[in-house]
Amino acid sequence: MRRALFPGSFDPFHNGHLEVVERASQLFDEVVVAAMRNPQKAGPLFSLEERMDLVRLAVEGMQNVTVVALASLVVNLAREVEATVIVRGLRAVSDFEIELQMAQMNRELSGIDTLFVPTSSEYSYLSSKLIREVAAYGGNVASLVPKPVDAALRERNRLP
Ligand code: ADP
Repeated sequence: MRRALFPGSFDPFHNGHLEVVERASQLFDEVVVAAMRNPQKAGPLFSLEERMDLVRLAVEGMQNVTVVALASLVVNLAREVEATVIVRGLRAVSDFEIELQMAQMNRELSGIDTLFVPTSSEYSYLSSKLIREVAAYGGNVASLVPKPVDAALRERNRLP
């Protein structure tokens, strides 16, 4: 049984994240998506419970994907859920430096390797921060996020 862990803030979960989950779900028997309790990014727009619910709705059709909370080190959670690989998405070279550093640290700490999934060019410019900003000013992000996320953003920003 090959199980992968995909950790992130997912504030909110967008189509770039979804693509990584879809591809990982084809590569592994099981994928555990872990939403960070305290994203380093100050003041999340959505609470942990809201973020987890939105990820769950987005991955509903994928039988081998589960969603959990991440409250400790990624490698501790990986051991707990018996994941042998950490999956991370790569958008551009700019992601690579920090991701490489984290992957090396995680391997040093636990021996667990990181698999990088390069995003398709269609989603390579997407980030949760950009989506939050565009949605806050009434921009239409419906084509960039799963439907439940679009609805939640509209509600949060009091848009029709
Ligand atoms: P964001 O940078 O969008 O806030 P997270 O901190 O939630 O994302 O990141 C979780 C994981 O998703 C990371 O591995 C990140 O590289 C990946 N990721 C974020 N945006 C994209 C994208 N557009 N395409 C592929 N992977 C992405």
